[in-house]
Amino acid sequence: MNDTIQELFDPPLQFVLEHENVLLERYDNKFIGLCPFHDDSEPSFALWRYNDRDFVGCWACGFGPTDAIGFIRRLHGVTFAESLVIIRRIGKAMPDDWSATILKSTSVKDGSRDFSAEAREALSYEPGYARQFLAERGFTTSDTDWVLDRYRIGGDEKYLVVPHYTPSGRHVTGIKTRVEDERLDTLGGGTLSFLYGCWLDEGQPYVVLTEGESDCWRMAAYYRHDARILVLSLPSGAKGPKPPWLKTLEGRRLLIIFDGDKPGRDAAEAWRRERLDARIVDPGEGLDASDLTDDDLRRLLA
Ligand SMILES: [Zn+2]
Repeated sequence: MNDTIQELFDPPLQFVLEHENVLLERYDNKFIGLCPFHDDSEPSFALWRYNDRDFVGCWACGFGPTDAIGFIRRLHGVTFAESLVIIRRIGKAMPDDWSATILKSTSVKDGSRDFSAEAREALSYEPGYARQFLAERGFTTSDTDWVLDRYRIGGDEKYLVVPHYTPSGRHVTGIKTRVEDERLDTLGGGTLSFLYGCWLDEGQPYVVLTEGESDCWRMAAYYRHDARILVLSLPSGAKGPKPPWLKTLEGRRLLIIFDGDKPGRDAAEAWRRERLDARIVDPGEGLDASDLTDDDLRRLLA
């Protein structure tokens, strides 16, 4: 199932290039071809693999190294969030029988360039709008910086990028639209099966379980100086427990804080029936964890 999600959201870079009519030929450990970004007469555009990730770049005009996001942004002149939408669409166009030519992973380093740092930069999320989003929700500046760094949230006016990763750190999805009522809808959210935040699990003995990502950020910021506490959220709204989630939570002390509305209370009731070592806290009618200040939380959790 996760392979399907992966294909849907994250098609191989090789396929993205093919789809966008950038034709490349195998050459040694790379693929090379004419660069779409400058008037190229000799192939100077390349696709290569480094540390199990694929990159493109051009050594003539200096484009890259970057990933599918950087490539699509440049090719179509779009924002980061729009590039994710395009890449997702390309992933859907990928035929079932398409297979990549496997590139051998290399560890290119030419002394003057730190490829891993460039790659990290290319893959990092733009926090701009997410900063504003969190500020509007009452996060302090230092909590905001911490949350952006820990959860790699980014985006622009139209989309909030909230990456969900598997326990092994594989990116599965992460675009949320910001609609009129400021509710967040995850594109493809129904296909998510792991608890949000699971990739940060280091076996902490205490787990706080929230209903949504912004509640998760709120509680994680609140408890950020306590290394014994892991904060997780349900991947797509109020729900009762699923067997893999229960397995993750086995033997740990649990604090459940879902929304103070009917779906949240019904979900909390379903969790209560599991007879876990859990304390269930209701944030109050119409409220969720992300609405609560540090003082509210101190009172509620006393
Ligand atoms: Zn070029």
